[in-house]
Amino acid sequence: MTSILEIRDLRIEFETFEGVARVLDGIDLVLGKRDTLGLVGETGCGKSITAKAILKLLPMPPARIVSGQILFEGMDLIRMPEEKMGSIRGEKISMVFQDPMTFLNPVFTIEEQLVDVLLAGGNGGTPGRKRNRKEARKKAIDLLREVKIPQPELRIKSYPHEFSGGMRQRVLIAMALSKSPKILIADEPTTALDVTIQAQILRLMDELVQEHGHSVLLISHDLGVVARVCQRIAVMYAGNIVEICSTAQLFKKPYHPYTQGLLNSILTFSKRRGKAEPIQGTIPDLIHPPPGCRFHPRCPSAMDRCRSEKPSSFMLEEGHWVSCLLFAS
Ligand code: SF4
Repeated sequence: MTSILEIRDLRIEFETFEGVARVLDGIDLVLGKRDTLGLVGETGCGKSITAKAILKLLPMPPARIVSGQILFEGMDLIRMPEEKMGSIRGEKISMVFQDPMTFLNPVFTIEEQLVDVLLAGGNGGTPGRKRNRKEARKKAIDLLREVKIPQPELRIKSYPHEFSGGMRQRVLIAMALSKSPKILIADEPTTALDVTIQAQILRLMDELVQEHGHSVLLISHDLGVVARVCQRIAVMYAGNIVEICSTAQLFKKPYHPYTQGLLNSILTFSKRRGKAEPIQGTIPDLIHPPPGCRFHPRCPSAMDRCRSEKPSSFMLEEGHWVSCLLFAS
């Protein structure tokens, strides 16, 4: 797999009134060309922080990058000046967020907003001079058609509140794809939608990715959602990547006790094995994270050494990495 994005030993802290929260504890992640990678884990484990760090959208302060690299086509985004990030955000790497209403302006029509995005230059959103609005409008209609908005010529004149939640999310996907980015990051894109619409949006994303060959980082707390779209899955817990492998490997043989717990808590999966069992306990306080393996207070397989030793990552099969001391020699 040829990589397009590599995160190396990324450590991020947040300054809070209570103390310093170590939200990313040295994560490593590789996204390949035409790869679809799902990032899953409970709320608060660091998934969205990772996505925002890639696009340099974290508020600094209170966020602080302690160490690490985020390499996009060999360039380190962490060290890239803000003027240059304008030509990366939206152009090369774009993002779809959870709540479309937050990102669509209620006082402008879909046409105005989509055309503005299309006309925006690569320099932090400065409007381009040469491309004319008529041409951009035509492209906007094509994009709405591509994301399966019915009667796009008419619906483009609508305001966001005239669209359903699923349609608004389709508009955001159209915006994210408007500059043909190389990487699409989707952060919980279907969480606010009901199950039927969720399935439609996931199918649409899958079709678009197959057709255009984007690399996708799909973030979700729901293993079922990422399994529908992604070839590979990375499982995150309390600021660490604890397991990474193909989707088939993860469902066939999950090695990490946390991944096993996640799967056992899914009703459809656990039906095959018995009743669904939630993971005991709650995610730790990241201002005072547990020493050693951060999962040890909840782990049914915890050993003495887990309380003091941080696990390294071990490759157990081709492309299947697990961070757990059960597999240390
Ligand atoms: Fe459980 Fe220890 Fe493995 Fe952590 S390192 S997941 S505590 S067995």
